[in-house]
Amino acid sequence: MKAGADPDLIVFFDGKYVPLSEARVGILTHALHYGTGVFEGIRAHWDDAQHELFLMRPRDHYLRWKQNCGILRIQVPFTVEELSAITVQLMLRNALRSNVYVRPLAYKCAERVGVSTDDQDAFAIVALPFGEYLHSDKGVHAGVSSWRRIEDNAIPARAKICGAYVNSALASDEARQNGFDEAIFLNENGQVAEGATCNIFMVRKGELITPSVTDNALEGITRDSVMELARRELSLPVVERSIDRSELYVCDELFFTGTAVGIAPIVRVDRRPVGKGAIGVVTNALRRLYFDATRGHLRKYAYWLVPVYQSQQGEGKQAASLVEINAA
Ligand code: PMP
Repeated sequence: MKAGADPDLIVFFDGKYVPLSEARVGILTHALHYGTGVFEGIRAHWDDAQHELFLMRPRDHYLRWKQNCGILRIQVPFTVEELSAITVQLMLRNALRSNVYVRPLAYKCAERVGVSTDDQDAFAIVALPFGEYLHSDKGVHAGVSSWRRIEDNAIPARAKICGAYVNSALASDEARQNGFDEAIFLNENGQVAEGATCNIFMVRKGELITPSVTDNALEGITRDSVMELARRELSLPVVERSIDRSELYVCDELFFTGTAVGIAPIVRVDRRPVGKGAIGVVTNALRRLYFDATRGHLRKYAYWLVPVYQSQQGEGKQAASLVEINAA
C-alpha cells in the first residue's frame, strides 16, 4: 500500500463509512503486537472506453477471506454478498475512476497485553487508487531467496495472516538489496513454493506448470484465473506439481501471478536468462487474455466481474443500502 493515502478517502471501519483520518486503532491492539489479523487484496480495473470500473472476483476473495479468518477464529459478521456491496459503495462514495486496490483487514482488536486470543474482532475495508505494483512490461528479474517459505503447520501460507508477511517482507527486502525485483521462495523441502507476494508459473515442454498449493503456496485467485484461461483459451495442459529450483534455470518461460502484480513475466532468474531472456509467447498470450478478461472485453469471463457504476442501478445498490441500514 502506497504511503500518503488521501486522509479524506472514505473507508469502512467499525461498521461505518468514515474518512481514513478517523479510522484509527489503539497502540495496545492485539493484532499490532502479535500479527493476529487476516487480510485480502482485490483489484478493480478501470476501462476508459466503457467508463466502467470492473471489480475482479469479489465473492471469491471474500469467501477466501472468511474461510481464512476461521483459521484464526476471527468473525466477520457480514455475508460475502454484503462485503461485495460495501466494496462497491466505497468505490462509488470515493468516485474512483482509475485502477483500484481493495484491502479488507480483519483482526483481533482487544487492547491489552497477552498473546492468547479472545472473541474481540474488528474489520475494515479500504479501496485506494492503485497503479502498477511491479513494473513488469519489459519483464522482471527474480532471485531465489535464502529465506524459506513458512510451513503450513507453523503459520499457514494459504491464510494471508498478517504476521506471516514478515516472511515475505524479509524475502522482498533481501531480493531488492541483491538487485532483484522480486523473491522466489523455496519451501523446507527445497522445492519452489511461490514469490514473496505472488504465485509462480513455468512453461516447460509444452505444459504450464505451477507448484501445488500443498507446497506452501497461497491459493491464489489470479493463479486460478490464469489456469482457466490457459486451459480454455490456449488448450494448454496445466499441471500442479512440485518444481525443483534447477528447473527454473532450464524452463522456457516463467511468470508471477497475483492480484497486485497481475501477470508479471520473469525474464531473468538468479542472473540467468529465462528461455531466450525475453517475454515468452505463452506469457504474452496470457497477459493479453487476462487484461481483456479483467476489463470486461471478454463476454465469456463477465461472470468474474462486478461492474461498479452499472451495479449502482441494480442489485448492488439494494445490497449496499441493506448494509447501510445494518451499519447505521
Ligand atoms: N502468494 C502470496 C504470498 C500473496 O501475498 C499473494 C497475493 N494475494 C499471492 C500469492 C497471489 O494471490 P492472489 O492471486 O489471490 O492475489
